[in-house]
Amino acid sequence: MIISIRSQASSEERAHLLALLGRVTEHQRPITPTIIDGQEVIALDGSQLDAQAGTLLRQEPAVERVVTVKTPYKLVSRSFKTEGSSILVGAHSGSSAVTIGSADGSPSPVIIAGPCAVENREQLLLTAKAVRAAGAQVLRGGAFKPRTSPYQFQGLGLEGLRLLAEAREMTGMPVITEVMEPALVETVAEYADILQIGSRNMQNFPLLLAAGRHSQGRPVMLKRGLSATIDEWLLAAEYVVAAGNPNVILCERGIRSFDPQTRNVLDLSCVPLLHELTHLPVIVDPSHATGRRELVPSMSRAAIAAGAEGLILEVHPDPNSALCDGRQSITGEELRGIVREARLLEQMLGGKGSVSCVA
Ligand code: PEP
Ligand code: MN
Repeated sequence: MIISIRSQASSEERAHLLALLGRVTEHQRPITPTIIDGQEVIALDGSQLDAQAGTLLRQEPAVERVVTVKTPYKLVSRSFKTEGSSILVGAHSGSSAVTIGSADGSPSPVIIAGPCAVENREQLLLTAKAVRAAGAQVLRGGAFKPRTSPYQFQGLGLEGLRLLAEAREMTGMPVITEVMEPALVETVAEYADILQIGSRNMQNFPLLLAAGRHSQGRPVMLKRGLSATIDEWLLAAEYVVAAGNPNVILCERGIRSFDPQTRNVLDLSCVPLLHELTHLPVIVDPSHATGRRELVPSMSRAAIAAGAEGLILEVHPDPNSALCDGRQSITGEELRGIVREARLLEQMLGGKGSVSCVA
């Protein structure tokens, strides 16, 4: 159930509503309003309310309307918000802002590219220049790296964030970087234009809540968990939105399967499916999905044909010497080809790929 609060409601009326909600939703998380498209809303699991509580809620003077959403996720559901969300990136930092998502009819998809990890100043600035020249709009680079082994390169940390800010200054591109722990959300948000929550943390609930509460309005790109179902993924996104940050972008990055030939299996059917289930934009990461650079161009084309609103790609000036994920990294020149094909496909598909089919 989603309750919309009247913008004209007095503070007494609002307090009365919140007190009633506190009484009838004993076992649900603390109820706090979230703003979506300028409208203040509160989501809760209506199936846990008895009929009398439902009637009382509808009669509250602060309530404008009550929408029943049957799926376990509420605020991210298409049945609540039928228009696709478009998310503005980079406006606060003075970089060249871009919109990810489909509501405004702007050309998509957005191309995000850069190294897996920020390794040093020269490597980052060289890559930033190359991806800019190739036509990418957002620069990626990990400063805090979630590595499988504790003996692998863990990222430059704060120094990596400073280098990303320098690369943004130099190229004008907004930057995205990963945050791994709740206590660092505010720090990463000071430097980044988009906060990335990685696959291994998709169900790190304290991190999701912190990204909802403390990201200072920065959008969050939520990568699909290593073996996450679509519902688990959407519920993870719901945590961020319900905690106060409606700007979530979903990123399909492949899921675990049995065949070691590819690093993961790229689940492209999730793109049109997500467009039916949610209003959040969906982007695809062919680098982590395949783990093999030779597969990245074809999977990039396929992702756009499936309706992805963006791609995130790993690029390195010398992929074979990368400290992280070199096997799946492409060069700036290869990125140029992918961007060219993406633009051609976009024209062929009439701008929005499959998005227009599900609207
Ligand atoms: C990454 O983007 O470098 C990364 C670690 O991705 P994932 O969380 O999808 O493995
Ligand atoms: Mn990587």
